[in-house]
Amino acid sequence: MQKHETKLKKVSYEYDDKEYIVISKCPHCNLDIHPNAEDSKDLENDNFKIRVISLNCPSCKNHYFIFNDFGEGVPANGKYLFSIPMYGFNEHSLIKNTSKKFQSLYTQSINTELLGYKDISFFGYIKSLEILLKDIAVIEHPESEDQILFCNLTTCLEQFHATNIHLFSNKLLEVLKCDYLHYQKTDSFFSYIDLVKDCIDYFLLYLELLLKTITINENNKLINEAKKGAN
Ligand SMILES: [Zn+2]
Repeated sequence: MQKHETKLKKVSYEYDDKEYIVISKCPHCNLDIHPNAEDSKDLENDNFKIRVISLNCPSCKNHYFIFNDFGEGVPANGKYLFSIPMYGFNEHSLIKNTSKKFQSLYTQSINTELLGYKDISFFGYIKSLEILLKDIAVIEHPESEDQILFCNLTTCLEQFHATNIHLFSNKLLEVLKCDYLHYQKTDSFFSYIDLVKDCIDYFLLYLELLLKTITINENNKLINEAKKGAN
């Protein structure tokens, strides 16, 4: 089992008497780290006051930059601009078990959230969840592949994830079913993002267990066939 992955977050980081906002994971190796700062530089003109901090990952030893906006009136949580390289996934991640289609959309959704485009990232996460649920359903029900690919998210859940649907709270099902204009007005709109992300985390672990079980069953089948052949 892979180490359970915690969610990517923006966290504050003190360096040289200044507070930076950085991401909680290394953009190279995806591990939760407390990076080492090496240097910082100012980039300033009449309109912008940007600080770049150079960080080093204590785990993989790779370097990266985080850009923060120190302009006037920028709130602490709005300082984070981007990282170089952009945060992505690699072979250490559970993501490696998933389809390229899922990886592409999920990575884009995370980067969009980091850039502060919450609404767009929310749609991205819901669509990512749909792709993941369908990929898993196809593995478990290969005979129904066409039906799975053309059904909507809730039908896929009801028909092909009957054992998992109890994990979905009514609120989450409502969010997945309703259109944007309906729930965007509610105060708790953004708290749903975490619910959808938790769901993705759960199904990533579920997929890993499923693939491992399939491998074990296939190996046992081969061993049994070899035994039969030997007798
Ligand atoms: Zn690293």
